[in-house]
Amino acid sequence: MELAPGLHRIGNDIVALHLVVTDDGITLIDAGLPGHWREFRQELASLGRDLADVRGVVLTHGDSDHIGFAERLRRDHGVPVYVHEADADRATGAKPPATPADPRRLGPVLGFAWYALRRGGLRARHLTEVVRVRGGDILDLPGSPHVVALPGHSPGSIAVYVPEVGALFVGDGLTTRSVLTGVSGPQPAPFTDDREQALRSLDALDGIEAAWVLPGHGAPWTGGVAELRRRVTDAAR
Ligand SMILES: [Zn+2]
Repeated sequence: MELAPGLHRIGNDIVALHLVVTDDGITLIDAGLPGHWREFRQELASLGRDLADVRGVVLTHGDSDHIGFAERLRRDHGVPVYVHEADADRATGAKPPATPADPRRLGPVLGFAWYALRRGGLRARHLTEVVRVRGGDILDLPGSPHVVALPGHSPGSIAVYVPEVGALFVGDGLTTRSVLTGVSGPQPAPFTDDREQALRSLDALDGIEAAWVLPGHGAPWTGGVAELRRRVTDAAR
């Protein structure tokens, strides 16, 4: 679905991925779950574009609910996949993520698991080749994505800022709906490696003006970066 001109979202509040659509081609931010492939193809078709228009995939981090069909795009269609160097191991399966904490509420977790299963979550293929990026990089891709290091959820978590479409993609640097509890609203993301570090990392978002803040899980946020940051910090107390 179109959020704004040049800004498209696939999936839902459980798992979302995004497209930046420009005259120079398309940048994909995260690749969701393997089963999002069909919705991705449908979205391209609705735009009158095809796979040849996809110039690159930028992963906000290396977890399996974000790498989805990235390897398929890379292997079968030659699309490069960008990930922070500190998450390259995770994206390529060399190092599994830390095991998640015990679920406190089973319902929402099962909802997430069920959705993930239906979208082929267990079939997520690790990348065999990635382009390593760092904080401060501006990528030579449609929309000129800016890489903002956001370590904490994972060592190589990033936010991706695309001024051209007024969007800040935050991956799991924070969330607006916990996949663990099902509670909506800005808050720290569950299954985070280092919660304190993740909160401190949000400093890096100060001063960024973005009409849209788009987490990997939860509804898009349109209330501004500063207000979002304030609410996440409050929720963390
Ligand atoms: Zn996630």
